[in-house]
Amino acid sequence: MFEEIRVTKALNKIKATSRLKLPYSWDLNIYRGCEHSCHYCYAMYSHSYLEKEKKCPGSGEEGSGFFQKIYVKTDIEEALEKQLGARNWKKEVINIGGVCDSYQPVEAKYGLMRKVLALMIEYKNPVIISTKSDLILRDYNLLKELAELTYVGVAVTVTTMDKKLSSLLEPLASPPEERFSVLRAFKDTAAVTGIHMMPILPFLTDSPQNLEQILSLAAECEVDYALPGVLKLRGETRKHFFNFLELSFPELVDPYRKLYARGEADRAYKTKLYEVLCSLMEKSHLSGDYMKPMQSKLARSKQLRLTDFSKNSF
Ligand code: SF4
Repeated sequence: MFEEIRVTKALNKIKATSRLKLPYSWDLNIYRGCEHSCHYCYAMYSHSYLEKEKKCPGSGEEGSGFFQKIYVKTDIEEALEKQLGARNWKKEVINIGGVCDSYQPVEAKYGLMRKVLALMIEYKNPVIISTKSDLILRDYNLLKELAELTYVGVAVTVTTMDKKLSSLLEPLASPPEERFSVLRAFKDTAAVTGIHMMPILPFLTDSPQNLEQILSLAAECEVDYALPGVLKLRGETRKHFFNFLELSFPELVDPYRKLYARGEADRAYKTKLYEVLCSLMEKSHLSGDYMKPMQSKLARSKQLRLTDFSKNSF
């Protein structure tokens, strides 16, 4: 179910507490809700948080409203232009799609990202986009152009190379191989690219074989960084994920209850997993530092703007 809504603001300032670990302070979500329907989705909370009506009428299952009722911000272009054109806007990095995937299937119909990217080009504003969809390739030329003007980060999230498991975990996202086609395409642009292995799901996607396959494909695509992260289970996500396990992997319910006595997997599990990841990343010559490429690109584009300015002033 899709509902068109109007907004007064396009950009949202991320709370200072959440910003501590993030390389950006602003979020832009052109949709509320996400059709990709990943059973581990961390963003389910945002529907009940943002909306007064808590769940999709008639759904009874936690998280289903987030996947089934998608709000479309049809006038996002207008709202964004006002904010980007404001005198006090400092061209800060904008994360496009903090609580939804901007390239979920409905975007093929509305094409809002094309309008958003055209504005980013006009204002030379740096952006980060992460997606699980090859629909982003539709906007290849716009992103390529923007990356020549300022920082553009294109990250693809891959949790498993097992197509069948992926279609069960992330039903409407592109198959894993198609996501890699995005990284292959952006390799030849000025965009910084990354692979997000998030979340890693204990007993489902955490085998060294799966992790190694993802990392070696990412290395072939010459990504600038790899960012792994273990599943967190809190609030609505926890309830929804346990429902999913009961239906699809009942044998994993008890092991998960044991591992997730709290919102995060126990420390011993994480320590062991990160040891494996470190050695695999080393083997694939992949860095986990996503800040370095961003900082150097931002510094270069600032220099470029200063050069332009000095040229224009004579
Ligand atoms: S793509 Fe991201 S926002 Fe969309 S359902 Fe999956 S985890 Fe949630």
